[in-house]
Amino acid sequence: MTSVFRDEHWIGGAYVPSGSGERIGVENPYTEEVFGHVPAGTAEDVDAAVSAARSAFDGWASASPAERGAALSRLHRTLAARADEIARIVGLELGTPLKIAKAVQAGLPLTVLAGYAELATRPAHEETIGNSLVVHEPIGVVGAITPWNYPLHQVVAKVGAALAAGCTVVLKPSELTPLTAYLLADAFAEAELPPGVFNLVTGTGPDVGSAIAGHPGVDMVSFTGSTRTGAAISRAAADRIAKVSLELGGKSANVILEDADVAKAVKVGVGNAFLNSGQTCTAWTRMLVHRSHYDEAVELAAKTAAGYTLGDPFDAATRLGPLASAAQRERVRGFIERAGARLVAGGLDAPVPARGHFVAPTVFADVDPDSELAQEEIFGPVLSIIGFGDDDEAVAIANNSKYGLAGAVWGSDERALAVARRLRTGAVDVNGGSFNPFAPFGGYKQSGIGRELGAYGLTEFQQVKAIQR
Ligand code: NAD
Repeated sequence: MTSVFRDEHWIGGAYVPSGSGERIGVENPYTEEVFGHVPAGTAEDVDAAVSAARSAFDGWASASPAERGAALSRLHRTLAARADEIARIVGLELGTPLKIAKAVQAGLPLTVLAGYAELATRPAHEETIGNSLVVHEPIGVVGAITPWNYPLHQVVAKVGAALAAGCTVVLKPSELTPLTAYLLADAFAEAELPPGVFNLVTGTGPDVGSAIAGHPGVDMVSFTGSTRTGAAISRAAADRIAKVSLELGGKSANVILEDADVAKAVKVGVGNAFLNSGQTCTAWTRMLVHRSHYDEAVELAAKTAAGYTLGDPFDAATRLGPLASAAQRERVRGFIERAGARLVAGGLDAPVPARGHFVAPTVFADVDPDSELAQEEIFGPVLSIIGFGDDDEAVAIANNSKYGLAGAVWGSDERALAVARRLRTGAVDVNGGSFNPFAPFGGYKQSGIGRELGAYGLTEFQQVKAIQR
């Protein structure tokens, strides 16, 4: 069995032991065995990391775009050489099937980082308004706090953008999946980026996360995770008027209109809902289907779900891995138990592998749009199907959510685009339009504040100054 033991934090360009001397075990959710550990960091470790980031800030912020771009290119090359290792580690700590891990858990963050290496070479935007010269400047020291579902992608979306903007960073990854952040720290060491521009402290949310969120030396907190924690981080940052950007939960609708290619919409829709075992904030967990196609869609969705192969993430035949933790599995099982809708695939009694935190791919039909099933983010392989009579009703049901992260519409091009414009979400895919890692990503309503990825993501880490002449 592979073991990964990390006993130090990456602070000020060196690996240093944690003040606590304590560790957090990392579990493989398929074997249910602990195969690694990382330090359980403390508020003092955060102090040291923030101080290193502060010391590095002036030098990094005043480096030329060419220098920053070259440094990020070196970082990208060094990390890209570890692509297989990244996929393997995420397979071990999260249970993502290897093929998906290679494409999404390793490939996507490398694409995002390459994009930021290129964006870093462009001078910060400047413009003249009347007698004012308007300049964009790095905001300062960034505290980045990330979740477990796309461990390296969520880290790189923040670290790549912040560094490209000229900021320095203190990162706390999820304690469930902290190991790829160490591969990133290794890459910073090998690529010889300036000490202190990136610092890694591992630990729990209450110990390390809240110390970062409340730290007077942190100018901005960039967070991805649950809406509840996002609200706590906002409150902590509010006391010192620090900026926050929040990527939170979702309950996205996949709207299948009367004139849609139903078979394709259902097939792609089920695949999207169950990607990463449903542990995806943008997952289309509500399938809204025009009444004329309803029975056909329910049957097809149930058949597609039943066809999934569950098992060892390192077995090439596996399509669906376990959930990230026993706690997450119990949470998801609770939603299924309380569902109160017509079960058409999966459920609590469906067979799953004997070990590992599995939940069978589950589909409910005739779901009440106001029910818990249709309103709460489940973060597991659970799909809710809801019927509608016309486009107005579809839009009303889709927008009947406290969230507003993503969604999809299928139908004739103009009609689908018209419906897409009416959805109160940060992203909509029309007729299978693919994910664009350079387009702005973020939520309306309780799905968040601010945008990540591409040039919009970089701007988030900048201040604007007006100089009058
Ligand atoms: P979480 O919000 O509990 O944790 C996310 C990160 O915040 C982790 O690094 C955690 O240690 C840290 N954290 C926890 N409490 C904190 C605090 N008080 N102050 C500062 N940092 C703190 O989310 P999770 O445990 O990773 O997942 C729980 C739920 O969040 C999931 O079931 C899902 O609904 C949702 N989630 C959403 C996304 C998303 O991208 N939108 C991603 C992961 C999880």
